[in-house]
Amino acid sequence: MEQVSRRTFGKRALAAGAVAFGLARGAQAAPWWIDQRQVGPFICQSAFPLIEYQELLDELAPLERELMRVLAVQPCKTPIYLHLMANKRQHTEYIRERFPEVPYRQALFIKQNNRASVFAYKNDELDIDIRHECTHALLHADMPMVPLWLDEGLAEYFELAKDKRARHHSHLKKVKWDLKRKKLKSVAELEKEERLEDMTAADYRSSWAWVHFMLHGPVEAHAELVMFLNEIRNHTMPRALSQRLAEAVPNLSWRIQQHFAQL
Ligand SMILES: [Zn+2]
Repeated sequence: MEQVSRRTFGKRALAAGAVAFGLARGAQAAPWWIDQRQVGPFICQSAFPLIEYQELLDELAPLERELMRVLAVQPCKTPIYLHLMANKRQHTEYIRERFPEVPYRQALFIKQNNRASVFAYKNDELDIDIRHECTHALLHADMPMVPLWLDEGLAEYFELAKDKRARHHSHLKKVKWDLKRKKLKSVAELEKEERLEDMTAADYRSSWAWVHFMLHGPVEAHAELVMFLNEIRNHTMPRALSQRLAEAVPNLSWRIQQHFAQL
């Protein structure tokens, strides 16, 4: 199995994502880590001092608790490695050496031989990169798969600091505009996306919007999301979320319009 879900566009072009490889590849020798911390299931190894990032690292255990509270994600039982480079060049070389088939990304999550690793480098958006990729890592530690659009929608939602998630994402303004012009993609349309290369900026925005609706909108929508993920967790092939939402929430397209109109 190979699953890929990473960002391929926009300002943070080639930024974030989840990649799972089924093929074996020998572990490489660790480079010159100069700092290491453990927070919750995360083992963070970095090529720069982590002292100024302690606050960010301290958010990771609460991020896991939030996924448990909101999505009933199970506590992560295996370590997730965070490999943080000092700059883009180091990061690029580190990835190229180990995963030559993976195109350059600003940050990425790779699961290989049951080892889950997040790779990123020191930059102005490291906090977003880390929350985004660690969300992928926690979801994939708990579930055998996550539909591409939902995986990205959830990672986009949880990439902001907790107090900013509900109302301060840059997607919000554009989603309102999308809704006005009837351009927001439906869940059924998003479910057709299977290859990350085909995911556009609008797909990411629409995915975020539906996640926001399910987390902050009607309780029935949230319940469907939690049940859907639970069935995946239990290795049951769930019915499409688009069908379940349409049944649980009458007038779905009107309801999502109303949801964002009040924000
Ligand atoms: Zn992603």
